[in-house]
Amino acid sequence: MENPHRQPIVLTGGAPNLYDLTLPQLTALLQSWGQPAFRARQIWTHLYRRLTPSFEAMTDLPVALRERLAAETRLGVLSLSREQTADHGDTRKVLWRLPDGNVLESVLMLYPDRATVCVSTQAGCGMGCVFCATGRMGLLRNITAGEIVEQVLYFARGLRSGALAGTTRHDHLTNLVFMGMGEPFANYERWWAAVERLHDPQGFNFGARNMTVSTVGLVPGIRRLAQASLPINLAISLHAPNDALRSALMPVNKKYPIAALMDATREYIARTNRRVSFEYVLLQHQNDTPELAEELAELIDGLLCHVNLIPWNPVPGAPLQRSHRDRVRAFQNVLLRRGIACTVRVERGVAIAAACGQLAATPQPAETTTSARS
Ligand code: SF4
Repeated sequence: MENPHRQPIVLTGGAPNLYDLTLPQLTALLQSWGQPAFRARQIWTHLYRRLTPSFEAMTDLPVALRERLAAETRLGVLSLSREQTADHGDTRKVLWRLPDGNVLESVLMLYPDRATVCVSTQAGCGMGCVFCATGRMGLLRNITAGEIVEQVLYFARGLRSGALAGTTRHDHLTNLVFMGMGEPFANYERWWAAVERLHDPQGFNFGARNMTVSTVGLVPGIRRLAQASLPINLAISLHAPNDALRSALMPVNKKYPIAALMDATREYIARTNRRVSFEYVLLQHQNDTPELAEELAELIDGLLCHVNLIPWNPVPGAPLQRSHRDRVRAFQNVLLRRGIACTVRVERGVAIAAACGQLAATPQPAETTTSARS
């Protein structure tokens, strides 16, 4: 059956997206144009420190260079297709259209003490978790490092200008979570390139400790992250304490069962000494009984970890129910009694389908698109 999310491929020409280039690559490009090396640094500053939205606004560059950049490169490729807000403007979901017609979403969540952006690392997702709207799309494609970075810069620019501040006074992002559409470790190289780009002290300079990556449990990715050079926080979508139940909810468990996942998690903690978050979506009468809470406590006993309980957010057509508040509390109490740090996630953006597991990137029929830099 035709996938309704996939759009006809539109060839966009070979002009490089500047956000896809490393500083050495940008330097090499400019040198091949006969430009002095310092021009690359100047442009890098525009891209990642000043967050300059257009070539025209790079007024310290010679006009001829700006014209050549505009003619032969692209300052971003994402087109803003739809923007929705909820929670009095403190939750903002953006639907992006990619140059090939595919779509993805990102969400800004403003709290009194933090400004968090949740970005996508793939268009769609191939992991097929039964409770997740993105999983129903299937994987459309891996997105590039630049396409990941652009999502972040859009919100950073909007906060700096005051346009996206909602009811808060935030003027910059404080937290970045790779928990939008897609499985980051299934697009590891590009995802990691985006992490390094955003972390670069000469550029955007975003602290690695304020970044969190969420994985469905791809064991090779967890092992790789354990050896990585930057201290990114790790969240693991667990959702069940035994293989039978987890495989029913998350097909990936057949490939990487719980024992393998726990081995990798222990290795990650031993190598990094960092606390892992276990995400546990609560589905009424499926995975939310006190017995399963006990089983979960047994499974993670002694690990440096925290459990984040997420009452399921509705996905149209899914034959599932959100756990009742009393069941959530009972589940949490079992874990707390067993000495396991455990919180219930505060809901954001349910009204605009921006909450966990709801991102489905469904375009409206007559949507117009504007540049991500606007
Ligand atoms: S929960 Fe995450 S990994 Fe699972 S289908 Fe949804 S986006 Fe993919």
